[in-house]
Amino acid sequence: MNTVTSKILFERAQKTIPGGVNSPVRAFKSVGGTPVFIEKAKGAYLYDVDGNQYIDYIASWGPMILGHAHESVVKAIQEQAVNSTSYGAPTLLEIEMAELITSMVPNVDLIRMVSSGTEACMSALRLARGYTKRNKVIKFEGNYHGHADSFLVKAGSGLATLDIQTVPGITSGVSVDTLTAPYNDLNAVKKIVEENKNQVAAIIIEPVAGNMGCIIPQQGFLEGLRKLCTEEGIVFIFDEVMTGFRLAPGGAQEKLNIKADLVTYGKVIGGGMPVGAFGGKKEIMEHIAPLGSVYQAGTLSGNPIAMIAGYTMLKELKDNPSIYAELEAKTKYLGDGIEAVLQKHGEKYRINRFGSMISIHFCDHDIIDFDSAAKADIPRFNELFHFMLDNGIYLPPSAYESWFLNNALSYQDLDKTIATIDKFLQQ
Ligand SMILES: *Cc1c(COP(=O)(O)O)cnc(C)c1O
Repeated sequence: MNTVTSKILFERAQKTIPGGVNSPVRAFKSVGGTPVFIEKAKGAYLYDVDGNQYIDYIASWGPMILGHAHESVVKAIQEQAVNSTSYGAPTLLEIEMAELITSMVPNVDLIRMVSSGTEACMSALRLARGYTKRNKVIKFEGNYHGHADSFLVKAGSGLATLDIQTVPGITSGVSVDTLTAPYNDLNAVKKIVEENKNQVAAIIIEPVAGNMGCIIPQQGFLEGLRKLCTEEGIVFIFDEVMTGFRLAPGGAQEKLNIKADLVTYGKVIGGGMPVGAFGGKKEIMEHIAPLGSVYQAGTLSGNPIAMIAGYTMLKELKDNPSIYAELEAKTKYLGDGIEAVLQKHGEKYRINRFGSMISIHFCDHDIIDFDSAAKADIPRFNELFHFMLDNGIYLPPSAYESWFLNNALSYQDLDKTIATIDKFLQQ
């Protein structure tokens, strides 16, 4: 595949943009090589600046659940744009968006729009702290909640007390308030809560994890956390930036039948525009300014272009819930097909799959948390990534990322993907 123009652009980009990209994973650092520069996308396909076509398994990291440049979304954006792109004053559109979301997610009484998933999680945590008047937060190793300081702490609160920055740029004062536990380990969380009695404001979790491959919560894990939070007065936050409106109209809460106290959104909610949101129980949400004393704001929050894009996307999903069954059937078909070729070649593997999220791990152990994901054969995944890219299939450029299916994918696309993996395994 000829990617000469991408290579020239990557050289040029690095002269004025750190690492040539505006978000690190795009630089292909974990898989190696040069990123391809995208010119346009339509349906299930990406087209790069050299005119190559790729079957897309990233969907812009989730938002493009209906495929790229979905007609109704494009039309809605065009119609709104002529009426100006921002006012900084309230609009009817924001009410319609909030009403649509609360109609799709029954336990969200109030919802505040922001501009990214990072902002949503950061604000939800501030709210939980203001509401409980406690400082600490428990997060899970390998879960990603955006790049706010509190969430970039993986572990090592021991080191943090030495007053050094364990993560460059993040003060020890912040680090000591972030406690971490392995995913799927309820007892570890119980122990932390016990050791920090009446100090934990929130437990935040990806209800189905997508940032260390796709990892499914084991039976009883989320239920146990829910019970613990209720007993201990801890705000239970579901980070549904990835799973919200992707797994079901009501997200992971609906799919897994567990109710969080606060929920954060991003990705699908903006239909490809920069949007995030956090919402939940009225009793907690009422503490946000201007109703309450927890400050949170945004010049472009509820931006009309972003709102119309997100609203149009969510409306399509609400009005056509069969999309979810279609997506799940496609993901199962893909997973089964890949499994068959992996077996045929005597490969050691695990496939984790939930709804329209799927990840393939080269290993002989179950992938249930960050450690088990890290112990898989990462170099082998990187080889697969490059082989697929060279053959017109764009997988996430990291073994630690879930693949996201979009409903524009055809069974022919899936067959081609399976056949290409078969070819990879034959080498
Ligand atoms: C992507 C993601 C975020 C961060 O969202 P941004 O819009 O990139 O800031 C937070 N949480 C989860 C689970 C995510 O997947």
